[in-house]
Amino acid sequence: MSTMTKMYDVAVCGGGVAGCAAAIAAARSGMKTVLIEKQCILGGLATSGLIYIYLPICDGKGNKVMGGIPEEMLKRCTAYSPFELPEAWGGPVNGDNGRTHKSKIRYESCFSPAGFSLVLDQMLAEAGVDLWLDTMMTGCEKDGDRLTALYAANSSGTIKIAAKCFVDGSGGAFLARHAGCRIHTAENFVTPWVVEVSSHRTSMKVSGDVDIRTFGTFNENFSFPACASGKDVTGFVRNSWALIREYYDQLPPEERKRNFPLQLPAMPQLRKIAAIDSFHNIEDSDCETHFPDSIGVAGDWRGSLTTVWETSFGALVPRDVKGLFAAGRCIGSTGSAAWEIFRVIPAAAMTGEAAGTAAALCVKSGCSTHELDVKLLQKTLSANHCQLFYPFFNEG
Ligand SMILES: Cc1cc2nc3c(=O)[nH]c(=O)nc-3n(C[C@H](O)[C@H](O)[C@H](O)COP(=O)(O)OP(=O)(O)OC[C@H]3O[C@@H](n4cnc5c(N)ncnc54)[C@H](O)[C@@H]3O)c2cc1C
Repeated sequence: MSTMTKMYDVAVCGGGVAGCAAAIAAARSGMKTVLIEKQCILGGLATSGLIYIYLPICDGKGNKVMGGIPEEMLKRCTAYSPFELPEAWGGPVNGDNGRTHKSKIRYESCFSPAGFSLVLDQMLAEAGVDLWLDTMMTGCEKDGDRLTALYAANSSGTIKIAAKCFVDGSGGAFLARHAGCRIHTAENFVTPWVVEVSSHRTSMKVSGDVDIRTFGTFNENFSFPACASGKDVTGFVRNSWALIREYYDQLPPEERKRNFPLQLPAMPQLRKIAAIDSFHNIEDSDCETHFPDSIGVAGDWRGSLTTVWETSFGALVPRDVKGLFAAGRCIGSTGSAAWEIFRVIPAAAMTGEAAGTAAALCVKSGCSTHELDVKLLQKTLSANHCQLFYPFFNEG
């Protein structure tokens, strides 16, 4: 098979929430944009990993902290699902966002993983993104320290995708790693989420007898070191399967006829894989701190916590490589609380939109990713309804 070459303004690796947001933002900015995804479903961990909660885009005190694509995705993710946004955020009276606790008033919602993938496909098509599914990035080419092309494999053979700027939305910084970026890693624990046919309500009643069940909580016996190798990932996934089997094995035979797994996650449910070494690796001390170069705000989604985090643009920019931005859970967010805040769906959409917009501005102005005028990026994001700063710091 031959190697064909394709040329784009912006190339995005990974069709998770972050990669989709980045590709949509770049294409809406007028860029000829390609998105490559190794699976045949969009949304990454949020959909093929069977995650079903679009965590809040508010601060827990009644204030919205994200606009732009994260808000657009939240509003649209319920389209093919039984869920609706809370009334306080524009949903119907008595709308049920699927959340049973007090966060019913938070700006968040459950969604159907399959339904969300269909919505993302619509959004990419509307923006004019050239989407390549079943296409896996396998390597890259550089000119000095600048990324100039990536290599991808699919049933046509090997494709060289040359672009003026790249976004890594691969979840594990896989493109950045191929390009020689240093990375940070962290520990993972196993809590498998599975679609099951169930006679009783477990975690989420999708409809009728179908639930998404979450298994287990943090357990040191199931804690895994940073998953750098393919064999580690195999061990992690098989451990999840063992936990699931253990649950169904202890059910009485009659009950097993009415309660059984229907779908396993198609992606390893690793929360943290790798974060790029960036110009601003977000630390826990960055919580509730104002950053003049902020490109977006993330609210704390954990329980009743209501801290708020501005996001320094430097977290999206790898130190070691030019021509590349990171988006989603592989941005330079390395503090243990910080990575928790920034690895989830709304923050992935927020950093994705910023990375795609930044890539488009680099192409338009002909500047390097290390020299982009942050004020210009902020002006563009603001014009697209993104919220850059949190106005209520120090108000107690
Ligand atoms: C058990 C668990 C529960 C969670 N619960 C929630 C929750 O309730 N709410 C929430 O908001 N978040 C939750 N999260 C986190 C959240 O789902 C993810 O962190 C988020 O969706 C990450 O998005 P992303 O786009 O950065 O990365 P990913 O979703 O990892 O997307 C990366 C994409 O890149 C693709 N890709 C990777 N390598 C290549 C390659 N070489 N070539 C081509 N494509 C490639 C992948 O197939 C994937 O589609 C949970 C995570 C876990 C593990």
